[in-house]
Amino acid sequence: MKKLKQLYEGKAKKVFATGDANTVIVEYKDDATAFNGLKKGTISGKGVVNNKISNHFFKLLENEGIPTHYIEQLSDRETAVKRVDILPLEVIIRNRAAGSFSKRMGVPEGTPLHCVILEYSYKDDELGDPFINTYYIRALGLANDEEMTKVAAYAFRINEILSSYLLSLGVELIDFKLEFGRFQGEIILADEISPDTCRLWDAKTGKKLDKDRFRQDLGGVEEAYQEIVKRLLS
Ligand code: UDP
Repeated sequence: MKKLKQLYEGKAKKVFATGDANTVIVEYKDDATAFNGLKKGTISGKGVVNNKISNHFFKLLENEGIPTHYIEQLSDRETAVKRVDILPLEVIIRNRAAGSFSKRMGVPEGTPLHCVILEYSYKDDELGDPFINTYYIRALGLANDEEMTKVAAYAFRINEILSSYLLSLGVELIDFKLEFGRFQGEIILADEISPDTCRLWDAKTGKKLDKDRFRQDLGGVEEAYQEIVKRLLS
């Protein structure tokens, strides 16, 4: 499969057309951004690692019955995926307080929650990805109710699958972001699942093994991403 025209360049990935109208190739970059693009940097080798990690999770989820865009990994940084119409939503699941939830609600990071939280943001950099609810989604025509019922059910199921899998490797899944798309009339999981899009804490020590090390200048960013690869793939 060959890369043709570049269709899109995002913060962490480029997307290319292929000879097949239903398939695109994503290429993972080492670029890292945080705080809506205000902080920029590179995490050496991140593209290779996130390609590996994300594909590993997507294969696991496919095996558990979640439809995803994954087709096949083509190289260290490149993967063939189904070409979807992406819903302009960040679908976020939270198992413990952290990040923007802690800030907004004044709840210390790491506080356990009485239930799992599902929340949505509207994907729009200029607006700073504002928090929205299902009424906003319906009112703006971003997705219909049938689609959102599926998105919510998949998100909770993905949380169950990934949380228990990661815990078996000594990693606690604190929160994460998903994106879904439409493919041939169905809702499928798209984008990536990686330490860029999840909060992953060592289950014993609480050590952060994710992009918060970059966001908060904690050091040992590359090592943390490598540690996740090691736990998943060895
Ligand atoms: N997240 C993401 N992309 C975004 C915003 C959030 O992948 O544009 C992930 C983030 O890594 C975390 C989860 O979604 O695992 C919840 O993020 P939060 O709302 O706490 O925002 P943040 O503190 O990252 O700004």
